[in-house]
Amino acid sequence: MKIRAAVLNAVGQPFAIESLDLAEPRAGEVLVRVAAVGVCHSDWHLVTGDTKHPLPVVPGHAGAGIVEAVGPGVEDIKAGDHVALNWAPSCGRCFYCLHDRSNLCETYTAPIWAGTMLDGTTRLSRSGSPVYSYCGLAALAERTIVPRQSCVVIRKDIPLEIAALVGCAVATGVGAAMFTAKVRPGESVVVLGCGGVGLSILQGARLCGASPIIAVDSHTPKIWVAKHFGAQSAVLSTDDVDAIIKSHTGGRGADHVFEAVGVPTLQEKAFTWVRPGGTLTLAGLSPMGSATNFPSALLTRQEKTIKGSYYGTVHAPRDFPLLLDLYAAGKLNLADMITRRYTLEQVNEGYRDMVEGKLARGVILL
Ligand SMILES: [Zn+2]
Ligand SMILES: [Zn+2]
Repeated sequence: MKIRAAVLNAVGQPFAIESLDLAEPRAGEVLVRVAAVGVCHSDWHLVTGDTKHPLPVVPGHAGAGIVEAVGPGVEDIKAGDHVALNWAPSCGRCFYCLHDRSNLCETYTAPIWAGTMLDGTTRLSRSGSPVYSYCGLAALAERTIVPRQSCVVIRKDIPLEIAALVGCAVATGVGAAMFTAKVRPGESVVVLGCGGVGLSILQGARLCGASPIIAVDSHTPKIWVAKHFGAQSAVLSTDDVDAIIKSHTGGRGADHVFEAVGVPTLQEKAFTWVRPGGTLTLAGLSPMGSATNFPSALLTRQEKTIKGSYYGTVHAPRDFPLLLDLYAAGKLNLADMITRRYTLEQVNEGYRDMVEGKLARGVILL
């Protein structure tokens, strides 16, 4: 069938809206009518070249929609089911899956990064030539074919634009606080960066009972938004952040600092704001090949911990429904995280607004 999709043809170019051919779902695959896709930095990294990927590629990895058909062998999911898409599908059998770290599942890494389905072939094409799927999802399209393992069936009373946010920023951020860092009641938390992931970390920290919660960003509007989502104190990065954090933490530094931007110099700075014995959690994705220098002498003497948080350490099939239940119960404010909605034709406008720091989260509605 013919579908309209956003296509990246070359690094540095805008996304083009094109008509592509989509084949039928094969064994173990699902055809999804996409409803909503979050505007997220990971797609932008394809444009800047910070993430290397076969081209042309259809981006979009924070999506949700409705199942239209399933391929042979898919028996636990059916047409009409609502799904949130998981960009790190897991096998349930490998070392990581068996050790409750399904976000690190190694079974599908190769085909996902090759931009194909799990059998190594593409379902998207243009004039007979393959078009690749980002994260096996290619969600910035009217319809897409994804592996069964990438689908998390969700309750039908949740707006699909909310489910799309849960598929990336909310899982990454709330998960970083709840599942990676395991913030405890009364612990002090500093969050650097107040985009979709940072605001989700704030909300996760609030749910864990953290206090105080301090948000830092370089954009004035964003630190006001941070207060709306649970920060007791919102600080501009040009302020004396060092002094403000110390004044809130008895001069020690914070129990937890979260870096949600992915900038090595900021990660190094963040380390200095962690108290001895405290934890720095890195939840922002840095460009591939970048490096951070941490002072190992202080790391040892002060017993600080540095943790990476990938997809919030979530187990998507278990935790997406949990996060949506928290939303439905009024405990996670996801509706207010959507700053602006765009059509597929406005996709470049959406990413420009994100880069300019205008969005908590933008959503493209298909
Ligand atoms: Zn994302
Ligand atoms: Zn696995």
